[in-house]
Amino acid sequence: MDEKRRNIILNTGIIGSAMILGTNIITPKASANPQNQGQIGKHQLPPLPYPTNALEPYIDARTLELHHGKHHKAYVDGLNKAELELEKARENNDFSLIQHWSKQAAFHGAGAYLHGLYWESMSPNGGGIPSDKLGNLIEKSFGSINSFKAHFAAAAKAVEASGWALLAYRYSDKSLYIFQVENHQKLSPWNVAPIMCIDVWEHAYYLKYQNKRADYVDGFWNVINWKGIENKLNNIIKEG
Ligand code: MN
Repeated sequence: MDEKRRNIILNTGIIGSAMILGTNIITPKASANPQNQGQIGKHQLPPLPYPTNALEPYIDARTLELHHGKHHKAYVDGLNKAELELEKARENNDFSLIQHWSKQAAFHGAGAYLHGLYWESMSPNGGGIPSDKLGNLIEKSFGSINSFKAHFAAAAKAVEASGWALLAYRYSDKSLYIFQVENHQKLSPWNVAPIMCIDVWEHAYYLKYQNKRADYVDGFWNVINWKGIENKLNNIIKEG
């Protein structure tokens, strides 16, 4: 491969990586990101950070097994497919399907990323209350821990159809911010770095909770990984 060609691939790889993170271009480095060593179309499903039965009874083992092994994997595969199609489009200088593959890359890229963040938002040793540093920032941003929990749970329960609720660090005013996402990427704000999320697609809870999304969301507080969330916050603040 000549130097020019190598540079084109490297450069488009960087652009592709920014794009595949959906509308959150500013996104923290996290092990939640599918690992791909910077190669186009080579993202891999990250392993679950705990056994599938570790979050029982709040998240049942069968749901976690299917959710990670089938659903999360499908988004990683979809991201790889979209990246390879976009690479092919550049090589052929044929961008007739650019809108389709751009949307596919945003949808699957966001799905691949958010599921990793979701696994890390929970822990078998979770629950309880956040430590002082995270707790203080939550209080500054939302008034109190209880107000934060009420706001976040209401946002999660009210997501229209399939989507997510996220907690993010907002760079511009150094505060925390709650938002809803539809599908995996719609309604995403800019200028924020996600640090925690809950998946409210039916595949996340239907086997155990059926139509009772609210019960699933309320159970989430028993497995929330405060320590891991604070670690992410610290990394974001450190990296700026
Ligand atoms: Mn999901």
